[in-house]
Amino acid sequence: MTTDVQGQPLPAAGEAPNLDLELLRGLALGGKRSQELEFLLASQAQGAADYQALALTAADVSLPEARARGTFEQLLAHRDRMAQSLVRPVGLKSAALDLLESCERAFKVEQEAGAPSYWQLEQMAYRDQLTGLRNFRFFSNRLGEEVHRAKRYRHQLSLVMLDIDHFKKFNDTHGHQAGNEALKHLALVVGETVRDTDTVARYGGEEFALILPETSKRVALELAERVRANVESSPVLLEGHHQKVTVSLGLATLPRDAFSVQTLVGAADEALYLSKQGGRNRVTPFTPPTSVTFRHRPQVPARSCSVVGSFNGWDPRADPMNAQEDGGFWLKMELIPGTYEYKFVIDQVQWIDDPLAQERISDGYWGHNSILRLRG
Ligand code: GH3
Ligand code: MG
Ligand code: MG
Repeated sequence: MTTDVQGQPLPAAGEAPNLDLELLRGLALGGKRSQELEFLLASQAQGAADYQALALTAADVSLPEARARGTFEQLLAHRDRMAQSLVRPVGLKSAALDLLESCERAFKVEQEAGAPSYWQLEQMAYRDQLTGLRNFRFFSNRLGEEVHRAKRYRHQLSLVMLDIDHFKKFNDTHGHQAGNEALKHLALVVGETVRDTDTVARYGGEEFALILPETSKRVALELAERVRANVESSPVLLEGHHQKVTVSLGLATLPRDAFSVQTLVGAADEALYLSKQGGRNRVTPFTPPTSVTFRHRPQVPARSCSVVGSFNGWDPRADPMNAQEDGGFWLKMELIPGTYEYKFVIDQVQWIDDPLAQERISDGYWGHNSILRLRG
């Protein structure tokens, strides 16, 4: 019998009552985020539920009421099973994708006689067969695009590299098949931890990569730490017993740590190496080897001074400077060699939150932009 990733039996091909793959596909791959889907579903439950309308709104799919209802019910049941297995809430989109992939596997036998569907072709070209994650080819393309976009729109972009700790020993102890189960399990845990806009890929054998667009180093660090902690607290289920697995992570952010695809990957890799050296099961942010010291003495006495990237610029983070006795301020900042725009913001009391970067940014144009050229 075919089973899904949690080992639950799946309906055999041709006998899945009222489970609509088109609707699942729309929910898993459509433009609606998990939160929007939850909201739509919740608003249905309160009144007289109309699943036909829900399918149309949530996934742009038109089908009979009973079939729509059956699909949503099976999806919710599948999500409950995943949540139980992972011991944490699971988003509706992830559950839909997981169920869809399981069903596609189950139905594949039937379809093999005919031409592969577009979905199957996409799967083969850009997804890793074992984990269902994006593969290296997809990762390379996407990272190239994201680096280009980040530089063009002057956004930050973070990259996290993840490697399983002592995985060779895990394979030697529990067998290669158990190792594969661990990889599938980790793919689910990591996928559940990141946001809809992030890309998780299987970079190589037991290495995963996370592309985090419009994400500052501080936010990336928090996310990577959450991934690490979730992996540590979600042991893999192996033939009746739970086996703990840990991972090491390294991260780097454009533009402070790198300014190209190669250097970003190199920086995140170097940070990952330091996590391994430091004892594993930890996150290490890349530290650029060069640094610059900013100094500023305001013409009028000031209580505080921060250095920030140009408004909406390369790094919407305000770095508070240290006060000196003579009324001046200083701050040492680690950066890779390059050209940066910056300005000093004095006595700023009103900060606005940048919803994208989740950092405080200056709400004004206080101070003049200056150019810094940092040589290696
Ligand atoms: P470290 O903590 O330093 O990363 O130690 P490690 O043992 O994880 O590192 P190493 O690179 O020596 O070993 C990686 C292992 O990952 C070796 C290989 O057998 C295993 N591996 C890679 N791909 C797969 C896979 O698809 N399935 C299984 N079961 N194992 C895999
Ligand atoms: Mg490795
Ligand atoms: Mg390893």
